[in-house]
Amino acid sequence: MKIICIGRNYVEHARELKNDVPSEPVFFLKPDTALIPKGRAFYIPAFSKDIHHEVELVYKVCKEGKHIAEEFAMRYVDQISVGLDFTARDVQQKQKEKGLPWEPAKAFDNSSPVGEFIPLSELSDPGDIRFHLTVNDKIVQEGSSTLMIFSIEKIIAYVSQYITLKKGDLIYTGTPSGVGQIKEGDILDCYLEGQKKLHITIR
Ligand code: MG
Repeated sequence: MKIICIGRNYVEHARELKNDVPSEPVFFLKPDTALIPKGRAFYIPAFSKDIHHEVELVYKVCKEGKHIAEEFAMRYVDQISVGLDFTARDVQQKQKEKGLPWEPAKAFDNSSPVGEFIPLSELSDPGDIRFHLTVNDKIVQEGSSTLMIFSIEKIIAYVSQYITLKKGDLIYTGTPSGVGQIKEGDILDCYLEGQKKLHITIR
């Protein structure tokens, strides 16, 4: 499986990092080694002094598809959760300045823990999916799917022009504003519709 991540999908977040608001989705990939087995901690890697949390809605692909039309996109995902797109912001900044790919800053081992999935059919309002992240029990990021610049349908249609989606792939849909540095000892909890889905300790 692969992990497809969307960048700059919330206006306030694009602004906080002084990025332009994109006219087309920005995407990048992570390998399956970016996941973290359930219950394991996240260890801050030696190559970064500035790992940031980015909480995101994550959809799971349920069947293979290419060139998927927006109107049929929801047939290709059936579950949702929340996950973290850990980002080595210092490394990313250097890569951006040099115009180099983001993988060293984004795709490293354990950079994408994801929570427990629920069927999309269990959402109370699929048009307004709310989620948040707490660090040491304080809310630091809050989002809703209504604030996404590109909807999940648009993301699926766009990405599948280039890359075949396969069953089990994950789509991280971008982060709302409030990203920040994590430190050893922090406890991160990700909530979907008020329900805790992911708990990670930082080591
Ligand atoms: Mg992200």
